Amino acid sequence: MGKPQRRRKMHSGDTHLRRRWRTRSRKRDLDQIDEDLVKKSDELLNQEVDLDQPGFAQFYCIHCAKYFIDENAMESHFKTKVHKRRMKALELEPYSIEDSERAAGHGSFKTAKKRKLETQFCDPEDGKTKVLVQEATEDEKKMEIK
Ligand SMILES: [Zn+2]
Repeated sequence: MGKPQRRRKMHSGDTHLRRRWRTRSRKRDLDQIDEDLVKKSDELLNQEVDLDQPGFAQFYCIHCAKYFIDENAMESHFKTKVHKRRMKALELEPYSIEDSERAAGHGSFKTAKKRKLETQFCDPEDGKTKVLVQEATEDEKKMEIK
C-alpha cells in the first residue's frame, strides 16, 4: 500500500512572493485614494517634513499613495506605466454602497461617472502642489456614448 505523497514545498523559499500580501505592505485602496483626492489633496500634497518618510514626505504621488526621494524621482514616476495605469483606474468613480443597491434592484441603473484627472502640478502662484478633479464635460459624455 502506498502512502500519500509528501506535499512538495514548491514555493517555500519565495518570500518575495508572500511579502506582497502582508498587511504591513498593503497600499491604500482605490476608493481610499479617491477620498484623498477629493477631500484631503491639499493636506497630502503639502505635507510637513517627516523624517521617517522617503524624501522627508515632500514628494508624494497622491494617485499612487507613494513617497519619492526627490523631485526627479517623482517626475520620472509620472511618466511610468504604473502611474498612467493608476490614473486610468481612478478616472471612474469608485464603486459605492448606492451602486450595490442599484445592482440589487433598488433604484435605476446609472453608469459610473467618468472624470478628468490630471497629474498633480505645482501652482506658481502660491507654490503649492495641487490636483485637478473635474467632472467630464457634456461633450465628452456624448463621445462616450457613441
Ligand atoms: Zn503616481
